[in-house]
Parts: sequence; C-alpha cells; structure tokens
Amino acid sequence: MAIFRSFAFKYSSVVYRNRLFSSMTDSRGLVLGVYSDEKTKSNKLTKAAEKYNAQTNGQLLQLIDLAGPISNGSQRTFWGLGGYTAVSVVGLGDGAKDWDALEKIDGEKENVRIAAGVGVKALAANKIFNIELDDLESAQSAAEGAHLASYIYQEFRAADKQKKIPELQVLSDSSKKDEWNFGKVLANSQNWARTLSNTPANHMTPTLFAENVAKNMAKGVEVVAHDRQWAEQQGMGSFLSVSNGSAQPPIFLELTYRGIDSAENPIALVGKGITFDSGGISIKPSAKMDAMRADMSGGAIVAATINALAETGAKVYVKGFIPLTENMPGGRATKPGDVFKSRNGKTICVDNTDAEGRLVLIDALDYAADFKPQFILDIATLTGAMSVALGDCLTGAFVNNDKLWQHLEKASESSGDRLWRMPLLKHYTKQMTDFSAYDLDNIAKSGKGGGSCTAAAFLREFVPKDTPWVHLDIAPVMGDTSDQSYLGEGMCGRPLRTIYELIAQNYQRK
Ligand SMILES: [Zn+2]
Repeated sequence: MAIFRSFAFKYSSVVYRNRLFSSMTDSRGLVLGVYSDEKTKSNKLTKAAEKYNAQTNGQLLQLIDLAGPISNGSQRTFWGLGGYTAVSVVGLGDGAKDWDALEKIDGEKENVRIAAGVGVKALAANKIFNIELDDLESAQSAAEGAHLASYIYQEFRAADKQKKIPELQVLSDSSKKDEWNFGKVLANSQNWARTLSNTPANHMTPTLFAENVAKNMAKGVEVVAHDRQWAEQQGMGSFLSVSNGSAQPPIFLELTYRGIDSAENPIALVGKGITFDSGGISIKPSAKMDAMRADMSGGAIVAATINALAETGAKVYVKGFIPLTENMPGGRATKPGDVFKSRNGKTICVDNTDAEGRLVLIDALDYAADFKPQFILDIATLTGAMSVALGDCLTGAFVNNDKLWQHLEKASESSGDRLWRMPLLKHYTKQMTDFSAYDLDNIAKSGKGGGSCTAAAFLREFVPKDTPWVHLDIAPVMGDTSDQSYLGEGMCGRPLRTIYELIAQNYQRK
C-alpha cells in the first residue's frame, strides 16, 4: 500500500505558504470575467464581477467600457480598485459561439480554461501571488485552467532563482467550491504527470519512477513493482528485449484502485514507460533527443489518472499496468533482425530497435487481458507519424468498439483535450503479420507511410477480439503543444482529463 500524501496540495500549500506570508502578505489579486460582443462593443459581467462592480460603485464596468471590449482569451489589469492590489478582468468571448460544430469541443468550458490561465499568468507576472478567482460560471474549468497555467518545472533551478507559484483560491462566496476543488485535483494530477515526464532521465529511471509513484500516489491505491525475474517468469520476452541494452533494471508496475467492493471486472489502463528512448542500435539523431526522457508519458498519465480517480473517490475498479525500461544501445542490446517471443507465444522480428514502444506494450496488453477487463485503454508516445498526421493539438485514437469511441469523443469534447479517430484496417494488419519466418515484424513490410496505423495494427494482435480496446497515440501532444495556451513550456500530461472523464462519466457505479 502506498504511503498517503495528498498531491493536490503539494505545490500550492506546503511548499510556498511560508514565502507568501513573509513577503507578499499584502499583495492580493483578483481574476474576474466578462463576456464581450466585439460587434456591438457591449460588455456583460459574470455574476461575481457584477457583485464586485457594485462594490466599486460601478467603476469597474465604466473602466472596461472606456477602453472597449476585452476580447476572448485576453485580459486587462486594473490597479487599486476595491480591496485588491490588482484586478485582472479576463475575456470569455461570446460563450460557446466562438467554436463551430467541427471543432468537437465544449467551447464555453474551453474559453473559461483559457481565460483563467490568462488572468493568473498576468497577475503572477506582476508579482502578485495571492490570487482569488471568480468561478467564471464554470468552476471546474476555471480551476483546471488556473492550476495548469501556474505549473512550472524548475526542480533543478537554484532555490533563489525559482519562480514563485501563485496561491489560488476561488472567491469565498462562490457556490461552486466542490466543482472548483474537483478541477483542482484533475489539474494537479495532470501537473504530476508533467513532472514525471519533464524530469531528466537520469533522475527518472524505471526504479525512480516506481518509487515516485509509490510515494506520491493517493491513499487506497496499491502499487506493486514487479522485477525482471517476475517478468521472465511471465514470459514477457518482448518487453524484456527492450531492456537488453540498458544498465538500469526494468520494472513492471501494477497499480490497483478499488473504489467499489464487488466482483466487477476492472478497467485496464496500460501506459508505455520508456524512461529514455535513445532508439537503441537504430539510434536516433541527437537533435532534440533529450525530449525522449518523456517517452514514459503514457505511464505517467496512467499513474496520475488513477491518482485522480482515488482522490475524487470514483466508484470504479481500475488496474494500471506500466512496463518501465530504458531503450539503450549497450553491448547486449537487440540487433536489428533479432527475434523474440512475446508473452502470448507469438514471435516478433525486431527490424528497427527504435520501434520499441509496441514491444513493451504487447506483453502488458496480454497480461492486462488476463483480468478480463471491461475495456482496455493503452496510451503511448508511440509514433512520430502521428504528429505528422495531426500536428500538435490532437491525440490519435484507434478503437475497436463504436460505443467506446462515442464515450471517448464525448469525454474529449468536455475536457477540451481532444481525440481523433484513426483507422484499424486489415490492410495495416497484413503489413505487420505477412512474413514466412516469424509471426510479426515490428515495422511495416512496405514502409509506405501510415506508421501510426501499422503500429496500432501490431498492438491489436495482442488484444482479445471481444474486448473493447482503444489505443491512444499521444506523440502529437507530448510536449510544447500550441493549442492550449494554459499549458506552458515542457511536457503536457495530455489527455489525462479526457481519460478521467471517460471513466467517471460512463463506468462509475451509481
Ligand atoms: Zn523509439
């Protein structure tokens, strides 16, 4: 059993409170919202902003009107108004009308996330770190945007050079405090996944990843780290082949959260956990190779999603499986053309050692299937081809079940972290399985593009046909994405909130 430590409060309360009291007791900031119609130049305040406007005898609205509408996603700071040092008024646009149906997003919620992030960043840039926020009439989204925007990875910066992280609170008279706290747990769980992914690979080996998860995971989640010997006994020859060239021992992490006491089958989450991907003998070019410290993002998101489910007391039974290893070109490393046997008995020729994600995932998928799950979701920074296809704003989803896809699409519209459905055709399967000397190859026969689709087809061979399954290729949204302004630099932890919503909305016991 993991030691309890509430992650939600780790950044805001424990670490920074002392500094706040010593230096910024008096600097208080407030974020308020306004809906603006650019055409009619009219401004409509949120309920909380209206209240504040009344307290300032209508001065706030007069000042906003004076300079014209505050456009969607921008802000204007007012100094010395009412009881706060500064008030940042953020533009919420025209509600959902700023997004059309093709966008497949709940635009109202997304506008709130963007606006909350903009307001918090503007005040923090002015050295105001004690910030209260309007719930912007969508408290969960406001908390998500504000907490995601406040995150900075600066673990290895000298203490006196580190930026201060603002202390965030919803206005005390908000009636939506529960929703706010809910959004805060989701955002802070996502921020934990970001920290796991951002951490340099020498500080996030398979062993250190497992220790970090055991230490920070919410109460009630069982964390078991299986060693190499266990994986050998399981016959996980495909997973273990990837660890051959590394001096770091591999670990197969198994997480269990039982939010219900019943004999119900679990939901299975499988996350790729390559703590550093050099490419192996098929070594990668050196430019931007450092980003491959985040090749365990799928595993980080699995751990952090289960943390969020446990912290919010979701009534579900979920298991997480994270095969952890480095992919290195050591003397024992896999050579292109080597053949290995996977846990389910199929043999695989490894023609490209940089296509290692699928090799660790298939043994985890096969092990997960032993628990007869309601559905399996795997998540992996799997292919560069996915980024070529989708840019940096979407996760590619390969799904063998229409109902599961409908749930996923709805969850992604609501979370604002969107998925796009990709093809699972026999054509791609043939590319991976049509060989005379072995059962599968880890790269496609023809090599004529479609690398994400052939990778998904490869994984599909290790999932029972009657088990609903989705493979999420998160390579496009691993880090430095440009569509969500509330996420700053570095790794993103996407799409954690979509997976959370999928499970919480559709699979909870009433
Ligand atoms: Zn690779």
